[in-house]
Amino acid sequence: MNQVDYLRISLIDRCNFRCQYCMPEGAELDYLLQQELLSHAELLTLLAEVFIPLGFRKFRLTGGEPLLRPGVVDLVKDIAALPETEDLAMTTNAFLLAKMAQPLYDAGLRRINISLDSLNPDTFDKIIGNRSRSRWKQTWLGIQAAYEVGFNPLKLNVVVIPGVNDGEVLDLAGLTLERNWHVRFIEFMPIGNQALFSENAWIPSEELRHQIRLRWGLEASQVRGNGPADVFKIPGAKGTLGFISQMSECFCDRCNRMRLSADGWLRPCLLNESNQINLKAALRDRVKTSELRSKVSHLLAIKPEINFKQRDSGTTTGIYTRTMSQIGG
Ligand code: SAM
Ligand code: SF4
Repeated sequence: MNQVDYLRISLIDRCNFRCQYCMPEGAELDYLLQQELLSHAELLTLLAEVFIPLGFRKFRLTGGEPLLRPGVVDLVKDIAALPETEDLAMTTNAFLLAKMAQPLYDAGLRRINISLDSLNPDTFDKIIGNRSRSRWKQTWLGIQAAYEVGFNPLKLNVVVIPGVNDGEVLDLAGLTLERNWHVRFIEFMPIGNQALFSENAWIPSEELRHQIRLRWGLEASQVRGNGPADVFKIPGAKGTLGFISQMSECFCDRCNRMRLSADGWLRPCLLNESNQINLKAALRDRVKTSELRSKVSHLLAIKPEINFKQRDSGTTTGIYTRTMSQIGG
């Protein structure tokens, strides 16, 4: 079992996109109010006095859309400055990144994952929700800015949805031929959009690999690494291809993470809705941080059991009630 040293931190539950698979337009979501979010100071207290003493060293900022969080650059700076921080990363949709890439880099962010589900502006707009103007170009400019500023590795996340963007798998994989980018294909999960999800709503990673193999060949680069992705490479390509196959394969045994929601709930597992602890409420009730450490330590101890039990309850039939944007995907 992996050492759990990685915390995914949701900075905000709101988003400027409405991805079909995550928070589709028209979905009734109760957004958190500003005072319900963990404050900058509360988050730093939790990191310094609870998570770091328990061995957490890697942090990823996510959301919702983390770039919408007021003061995000200062937060990055303060987390990067904690002496124990070994890795600080962010997952973003990049819409606001063109102007923010440099300040984030200067603040100490070094790794960034960007969601890009299509290279076709019309398909992209269809996935992220109909808007009066296209958002693809601005997103692409954000990706370019991140690359030019020096974010390395630059990872692109693609959720593959049959009938929507599955025809672009080769185009997206082809981005790695000339660029040192990591394109990661994610199997769509039954979280968020219940209406979209059915038995046929996701494509097993192996089918995508088959398409790529037929076109260029594919070699294993780092299968069963630390993270959830199995990593491959097109022979001779500069970048790599990752496959996150949470539907077709169980990777609970290599899970090294916990998730902290924007309102301070700590989840031991993405799919677990019953074993959470409300750290924000505890802090505001002036519970001692030593006591919080014990609670989190207990959750760490039971996490392996939770991972497998939750998995057993099945993801192909079970639909989870909170969206990725609410949990902190
Ligand atoms: N807004 C940022 C973004 O989109 O990159 C960060 C938050 S988003 C919730 C994090 C990741 O979750 C994205 O890569 C997104 O594609 C993924 N995601 C959201 N809903 C999903 C679902 N139902 N199945 C698989 N991946 C999902
Ligand atoms: Fe927003 Fe990211 Fe969810 Fe898309 S996947 S709606 S960009 S939080």
